Amino acid sequence: MLVPLLGRDTSELRALLQKEGAPAYRGGQLAEWLYRRRALTFDEMSNLPGALRTRLQDKYEVGRSRLVTACHSQDGTVKLLLELRDGARIETVGLPYADRFSGCLSTQVGCPVGCVFCATGQGGFTRNLTAGEIVDQALAIQAEGSDRRLDHVIFMGMGEPLLNYEAVMKAARLLNNEVGVAMRHITLSTGGIVPGILRLAEEKSQLGLAVSLHAPADNLRRRIVPNAKWPVAEVIAACHQYIRLTGRRVTFEYCLLGGVNDDLEQARQLAALLHGLNCHVNLIPYNSSGTARFREPSLESIRAFRRALANLGIQVTQRLRRGRDIEAACGQLRQRIDKETRL
Ligand code: SAH
Ligand code: SF4
Repeated sequence: MLVPLLGRDTSELRALLQKEGAPAYRGGQLAEWLYRRRALTFDEMSNLPGALRTRLQDKYEVGRSRLVTACHSQDGTVKLLLELRDGARIETVGLPYADRFSGCLSTQVGCPVGCVFCATGQGGFTRNLTAGEIVDQALAIQAEGSDRRLDHVIFMGMGEPLLNYEAVMKAARLLNNEVGVAMRHITLSTGGIVPGILRLAEEKSQLGLAVSLHAPADNLRRRIVPNAKWPVAEVIAACHQYIRLTGRRVTFEYCLLGGVNDDLEQARQLAALLHGLNCHVNLIPYNSSGTARFREPSLESIRAFRRALANLGIQVTQRLRRGRDIEAACGQLRQRIDKETRL
């Protein structure tokens, strides 16, 4: 089986080419073709000698995924369904905003955390993605999404990034050094994996942290996020540590499920929990088109929850519903296409 090259940085490519008998500087050219020019095949790499390209072709492949479907939303959001070398399928989303073009990348095929409202979590877990498969998504979004340069990345697609720590951090470094996305503009979103948050804190990297909390108390959180076994207090303590060591603010995501976690008592508990933390809360109204197990929160309850947090001194924003016409919530496109394929 051919070995994929995507996922190696310039110095690894230099070493690899030297091993193949080529001068090291060819590694820099190869990196340029892989990450900046988004080559799909060795044939495109016109400044590499033909003999070297043939030699590479015998052992290696570029390692790009296959585009299954691209859905373009009226608001500019583009959602891609990609097929990996082993046939597994993942989603990735490009989100153009007035001031940036952001890629929302998957980190696993499926997710073991099993959140009850999430189509990905309900579909179970298959495997971790490699660093190359993660970076590939950014390249696919750039190719399909917009003339603008992808300048922000969030690891907030399918999967739990902190349960695939090494590959995700390698992908972040590749995005930073090879693709050109500033580390400060890369954010990781976690369901609350405490050892991973602490490890990230120790790295003192500029990578941003978002924590999907969804409930201020353990009994409710255990029902919504069944397989994240750390108590809320430990999650918050780990966030304190992250803020202390990195000096960065943490974002808490809170998916509002109608009648489950959206009443004012929960808003008050949440404000008390986050008191004194350098953070802000991003409210995400539940999108029911993938797993219709819950009610979407009413506009009135969203507004009241938001106002209660703000009145208690918590900075709060609300996620815009992007790409609703193309099913952009986590795991929903894959779910639909899989269903259609089965029919
Ligand atoms: N596993 C990580 C990152 C991927 S999930 C995490 O949980 O943070 C990213 C976000 O997608 C989560 O914050 C979750 O709130 C949101 N999400 C998933 N399904 C959703 C749905 N049906 N409606 C609204 N938000 C959803
Ligand atoms: Fe996994 Fe995030 Fe979905 Fe929860 S919301 S199941 S952690 S992908």
